[in-house]
Parts: sequence; C-alpha cells; structure tokens
Amino acid sequence: MGISSVAIVVQKFGGTSVATATKIQAAARRAIDQHERGHQVIVVVSAMGHSTDELIDLARQVTPRPPARELDMLLSTGEQVSVALLAMAIQSQGVPSISFTGSQIGIVTDSFHTKARIRNISTDRMKAALDDGKIVIVAGFQGVDENYNITTLGRGGSDTTAVALAAVICASACEIFTDVDGVYTTDPRLVPDARKLDTISYDEMLEMASLGAGVMHSRSIEFAKKYHVPIHVRHASRPDVGTWIVDELAARRMGAVVTGAALAKEEARITVRGLPDRPGVVHGLFRELAERHVVVDMIVQNVAKDGLAEVTFTVDEDDLENSLSVVNKAAAAQGAASVQSDREVAKVSVVGSGMKIHSGVAVRMFEALALAGVNIQMITTSEIKISVLVARSQGVDALRAVHSAFELEVVPADLRFSEDPPEIAVTLVQKNQGPVSTESAIVGSAPGMEDLVISDVELDTNQARITLLNVPDKPGQAALVFRAIADAGINVDMIVQDISEQMGREAHTLLSFSIPSRDVTQAVEALTQLLGPNSVAVDPKIAKLSVMGVGIRSHTGVATRMFAALAAANINISMINSSEVRINVATDAAHGEIGLEALKKAFDI
Ligand code: ADP
Ligand code: ASP
Ligand code: MG
Repeated sequence: MGISSVAIVVQKFGGTSVATATKIQAAARRAIDQHERGHQVIVVVSAMGHSTDELIDLARQVTPRPPARELDMLLSTGEQVSVALLAMAIQSQGVPSISFTGSQIGIVTDSFHTKARIRNISTDRMKAALDDGKIVIVAGFQGVDENYNITTLGRGGSDTTAVALAAVICASACEIFTDVDGVYTTDPRLVPDARKLDTISYDEMLEMASLGAGVMHSRSIEFAKKYHVPIHVRHASRPDVGTWIVDELAARRMGAVVTGAALAKEEARITVRGLPDRPGVVHGLFRELAERHVVVDMIVQNVAKDGLAEVTFTVDEDDLENSLSVVNKAAAAQGAASVQSDREVAKVSVVGSGMKIHSGVAVRMFEALALAGVNIQMITTSEIKISVLVARSQGVDALRAVHSAFELEVVPADLRFSEDPPEIAVTLVQKNQGPVSTESAIVGSAPGMEDLVISDVELDTNQARITLLNVPDKPGQAALVFRAIADAGINVDMIVQDISEQMGREAHTLLSFSIPSRDVTQAVEALTQLLGPNSVAVDPKIAKLSVMGVGIRSHTGVATRMFAALAAANINISMINSSEVRINVATDAAHGEIGLEALKKAFDI
C-alpha cells in the first residue's frame, strides 16, 4: 500500500547527516522528494556534525560548571544554524520552505533546563505554512518554557522533537535519517556482525534505547508508543528501506526470543551500606534524586541484617557527582556506615518481547559471560530484558559474547515493510489522536504531552522467592545456579544479584530470584545438591506488585512514589525490578492486598 493521498510526513536529520553544505543539499533533496510525491513535509534537524559537543566544550572553557539556563541558550544556537541552512537549500532548489526555532513553532516545555520535557505543541503555525505549500523546517532538541526561557530536551533530543511533532500533527510516519541504515541487533560499531532488523516493537526499542542503544532517544519512543506513530529509521544517503519501529502486533517476529543487545558504557554504581532499616529511609534517598531528574537503574535493596540495610543502584556517569552529593548528605543524616561508588562499570543487556519467562535466556546469557571470563557484578531483570553490571574494561567483550550466544547475527523470519508505513499502524494513526489508553491516569498537576501515563497496577501471589546467601564473587556462579534451575524445568521470573561484599578473605554476593510457588521443593533440592545444605533461603509465598505504564524508568518519580506508598503502608520490599513499561517489587504475601490498595491510591487508578 502507499501513503494515502495527502499525507503528512515528518523527517528528521541527525548531526552527521547535515554536517556539511553538501549533506544539507542532499537532505533538502530527500525532503523535496516526499513533497513531490504530494505529501506535506515537516523536517526536524539537529545541529551540524559535532557542533553541540563543541558548544559544550566552549562553555566549559569559560566556566567549569555552566549554568543550565545559559547552556540551553547556547546549545539551541546549533540547531538554529542548520534549520536556516536547510530552508535555504530547499528554496534554492525551487521549493518554498520556512524555518522555525522550537519557540517559534510553539514547543512548550517545563523549565527543567538541559532535560526539559515537552508540555504541548501548537500546530497552528505549522499547519498554516504546510497549507501554503511550504516545507516546514523545525529546530530539533529545543523548546521554550512558559516564561520564554529557551530549554533543551537532553542529548539526542531531536528524535523526540520529530516524533512529538509527528504525534500532534497525526503524521503517517516519522522518518529518522541517520548514519546507519536502520536499527541493528546491537551497535554495529561495537559488534561488526550485528544485523539490521526489519522491524522492532515500541517496547523493545524503548528498552534498548533506555539501556544504551544510542540510535534513538528513548523519550521519542514513548511518544511513538503513546500516539501510535510508525517510525522508519534509515540511512540519510542511501535509498534502502531501513527499520520500522511499530506496535507489538506489526513487529512480531516468529521464534526470536531475544531481539537485541545493548551496552551502556558510561554507567556508575553507588552503594550505601549500613542504612538503618526504617521505612522511609531509602525512599528519602531516591526522592531527592528523582527531584533532580536523575534516572536511577538496577536498584537492589538488600535483605536487612542486624537492622541495617544496604542499597545499590546505577546512574549515568554524568549524574554521578550530582547523585553523590545527594546520597552522601542523606546517608550522613541517616547515620549510614558508608557510601561507595564505582565509575568503572558498564551495563550489558539483552532485550526481547519473546522472553517473558527467563529461564532459558538467563542461563544462555550467564553461560556466555562465564565462558568469556566476565564476572557479573549485579543482575536485574524485567519482563523483556536482563541486565548485568560488569567491569567497564570488559563491557565490549561481554556485549560481543552475549550477541553471539543468542546468534543475533543469524537472520530469523523477519517481517519486511516497504518505504511506506505499514497498514496496521496507519489505521491506528488516523483513528488515534491521543494517548493509547483512555483510562490511563496522568500523573502530575498540569497535564502535558510527555507526562507519565500509568495504566494499571497489578498483584501476583503465585510466586516464591529463593535467596542464595553466599555466592562466591567470581565468573560462572550465576550460570551454574540457573543451569540447575533450568535443568529442573523451572521458570524464573525476577532475578536480582547484589554487588559483592567482602567477608573475611572472600567476596560473596547475594542472589535472589522468584519462581512459581509450586516449584519450590524441586528448586531447593536442585540447589542444595549444587551448593550444599544451608545455602538456600526460601520464602514460599511472596506478593509481586507491579505498576504499568510508558516511560516508567525515565520519568524519575515513579519508583519513589511506589516506595513511598508502600512505606506508608508499612510494607517491606525484598526485590525491585524495572523497565520502561513496568516496575515490579516483591513483598511478603500477607501484605499483597494492602500493597495493591496503597498503589491504586498513590497512582489514582
Ligand atoms: P544522529 O546524529 O543521526 O542522531 P546518532 O549518533 O545519535 O545519530 O545515532 C546513530 C548511531 O547509533 C550509529 O552510528 C550507531 O553507532 C549507534 N547505535 C547504537 N546502537 C545501535 C543499534 N542498536 N542500531 C543501530 N545503531 C546503533
Ligand atoms: N544536537 C543535539 C545533540 O547533539 C540534539 C540531537 O542531535 O539530537 O545532542
Ligand atoms: Mg541521535
């Protein structure tokens, strides 16, 4: 099928794709091509080449800590250069065109400089220019707050501008032109035999992007999923069809459990030891981080010993300094024993909608890492991903090992789309003008386009928790454990492995996971055989509480709100895991129903 008569198409060109005058001419040509097919065209452009990096560098030469408002003022000039040049290029080829900055087009954001979120976008000016037959060029990555301060959306944010515009204007598709010819099973620069995917689902792409796949800004995929915008990622200077990012149904691939792997190289770990185990302590810590918009991942809260708890989590390395100042203060106020951090870590993840149950995937991943001699420092999972923390020096090797263990370079039965948007998504776009679920609750005071949407909370009481207390901190241990569990035919749901603790001369880690309650006896038998008696602790019935929505991890307040609600109800959390579409916690079974009610209230469900 083709795009119906007059469709609106949004195109986005990344920095490398507009790095020179020649490339700008080529981008102009691609916009004109769609225009000549009879479509209305909006083009979003990034700053030329590395100019954003250069501007940041310049600011740092003036002052080591540039004030965020002025940094935004400076960075927005990068995109202003490229929109003007692209509009000139298009006009020089005889087609009417007009350029706009974010504020001119009416992209209104909150006031969180350098990480602003879009509140709303007015379509009047865009529509008027389109109806005049013009190609509309919009500066990516920038907006304006209600006090006319210029804001930026965070590095890589032009993708988000493009998809947000596509959403408000009900475009048929959003084409992302970049320096690769699509979304690959992993970063092709790091793994040369990575394979281009024909399709990937919103949930998988959201998770991949949030776990390190820099090809798309993860917040752009939140928009795409909420507003059903089909995205076509393709090469700026090649005609080939790239990768379609579409809904689950359209993207479904037969047989593939794992779709891709990602590496987040710039991770840092923070561990707070010896925290008094009182409700509210840990929540206070995360609340302050959330208020500063620090995205926290891989949270592991350890079982308390002698009334003292321990919390470990990871943040982006750029956020480490900021986070440590918050955490150090909070830890001191609470009388915690110590705060440790490690910036030499990296996070390796596998992602796939087909993995809902982890047994096979976990063993395969952990065995591959063991074989490559990679020590796993921490593990966390969600329904559609497994992440491990490793030494940064081993990050790329770990990624390669995992990529080849899942044979991601081998072509499975992929769905192919053509140049034009897939039919299923187009119908949805035409029907839909707002967020996916009408029953969803918008969290926050003034509702904005990018607000968090929580769609449901859930309670599952059919699981048990197994805890292995003294797992030696060396390669291959997790592989052994999950091989034994998988061989016993038991499915594993949540997995959490904490950072190691020195005990005398040896370092040990704590490994917890949940399995169906009915399999407890069998699991204990298998593990006792492997690890000896007294090494396995069992909680035969736990309650798993979940909050579901879109953009859960990147909207920094969700976990905090969940912890606060549970703490207020005096409920202890024994395991935590999160993805962009869901956050799960395990508590004791007796508190399941109370917890569910507390969460419904906290999230207005
Ligand atoms: P742009 O400037 O066009 O926005 P980016 O540099 O932000 O481009 O994104 C493109 C880059 O993303 C690629 O060159 C590639 O190295 C990297 N990348 C990381 N993960 C992936 C992946 N899974 N598939 C494709 N590219 C990826
Ligand atoms: N120019 C901005 C950056 O380099 C935004 C973008 O390219 O998407 O981060
Ligand atoms: Mg980018």
